[in-house]
Amino acid sequence: MNNRLYGNLIFELSKPGRKGYSLPKNNFGGYSVDNIPGHLKRETDAMLPECDELTVVRHYTNHSNNNFGVNNGFYPLGSCTMKYNPVVNEEIAGMQAFAALHPLQPDFTVQGALSVYKGLQQALCALTGMGGFTLNPYAGAHGELVGLMVIRAYHESRGDHKRTKVIVPDSAHGTNPASAAISGMEVVEVKSTAEGCVDVEALKPLLGDDVAAMMMTNPNTLGLFERNIPEITALVHECGGLMYYDGANLNAMLGISRPADMGFDVMHINLHKTFSTPHGGGGPGAGPVGVRNGLEEFLPVPFIHDGEMLTMTEENEHSLGRISAFAGNFLVALRAYTYILTLGREGLKQVGTLATLNANYIKERLKDVYELPIPGICKHEFVFNGLKDKSTGITTMDVAKRLLDYSYHAPTIYFPLLFHESLMIEPTENESKETMDAFIDVMRKIAEEAISEPETVHTAPHNTPIGRVDDVLAAKQPVLRFPL
Ligand SMILES: *Cc1c(COP(=O)(O)O)cnc(C)c1O
Repeated sequence: MNNRLYGNLIFELSKPGRKGYSLPKNNFGGYSVDNIPGHLKRETDAMLPECDELTVVRHYTNHSNNNFGVNNGFYPLGSCTMKYNPVVNEEIAGMQAFAALHPLQPDFTVQGALSVYKGLQQALCALTGMGGFTLNPYAGAHGELVGLMVIRAYHESRGDHKRTKVIVPDSAHGTNPASAAISGMEVVEVKSTAEGCVDVEALKPLLGDDVAAMMMTNPNTLGLFERNIPEITALVHECGGLMYYDGANLNAMLGISRPADMGFDVMHINLHKTFSTPHGGGGPGAGPVGVRNGLEEFLPVPFIHDGEMLTMTEENEHSLGRISAFAGNFLVALRAYTYILTLGREGLKQVGTLATLNANYIKERLKDVYELPIPGICKHEFVFNGLKDKSTGITTMDVAKRLLDYSYHAPTIYFPLLFHESLMIEPTENESKETMDAFIDVMRKIAEEAISEPETVHTAPHNTPIGRVDDVLAAKQPVLRFPL
């Protein structure tokens, strides 16, 4: 991209008087731009860039070419499942019959949309074993908060007011303790064993009649299936607490095992991870919350009532109330439902097996050159602890930057915090063997370069529009404004 010509900011390309539009005169019910009454006009012109259309098109096209997404190439980004969003989802979500709906339309005019909600709720129940789902939460973290509010409403409905603690494993996603704290409860951390699973012996002394819930992520953040779930759920239930399942990334489980069957009471799913709806850049998303039979009455309003026709209703005295403007991000729910119907029962089963197979394939073919701190079979993702040969001085950061030179997005690095040089890889079920083989070759090549030309790796990237940025300077002296 030619930065000088096309500019970093559209404002840098602005020339006074340039226009990219033409408006017909007298086309506003008798008003034209010229005869809008003076008192309705602003006193000074808005500060807007003035450019011709072609300049604008090139500016944004060149910026988008500098971006790298799953549509450009392999994107082994762990834990967030930046998986492919099938085009059919977008086709359906773009249909005017769906996209042009207004949430305040009378119910009888939106029976189709309400049946999408209903169908998705039923599908999620079938996939998880839960008794009911709300689609209202807008994100995973929002779902966690709602789930914990359900748990609190449940305890309070029984007059059990002393339950203030939420147990969270040390390997949990950061949103878990944050949601517990925001819901007004106290976070208690439980340690993991050296094998990366919840330490049951460390859990036992934390249990008592003040425990509201325990949150678990499965497969956990290391991509491991938690070994002791039956024992843990029994212990927590025995002391009167409920089990919360963080199902943000349910990829490896789809069609294979169900949280309700494992003894979980409340859970959330990220539609924008497992069910292939887009995310990144902050939105849109959806974090539906599922509850086992008997807890549905506490779910937030509005909910879909199936009577003579489908209606959106608020009548539920036990509900914890409203947590969103309406019933969540409808078009996200629609994409997820499209994805589920497209794959069908058999197709969904393959998601889990292929996601697991692909992750294990890459792990096994790289573990002789990258350090695998927790050996064995993983689920949808796994974590290396940097290069095996520590004598080169090449860090995980260097490897990630060098990957950019070979046109790969970097994987998640320095997370989870359990290891110093974490490098977390999640290929997802969609990648072909050829794509994974090519990635493996590059990862091995970088391991060789770490020995033969460490300086090249240490100063990477060399082929990107911007080289290695100074993270510390960017954090300490961020430039957040453009001086106009
Ligand atoms: C992504 C993720 C979350 C949070 O979801 P958001 O939609 O980003 O709020 C919670 N838990 C786990 C395990 C996750 O991977």
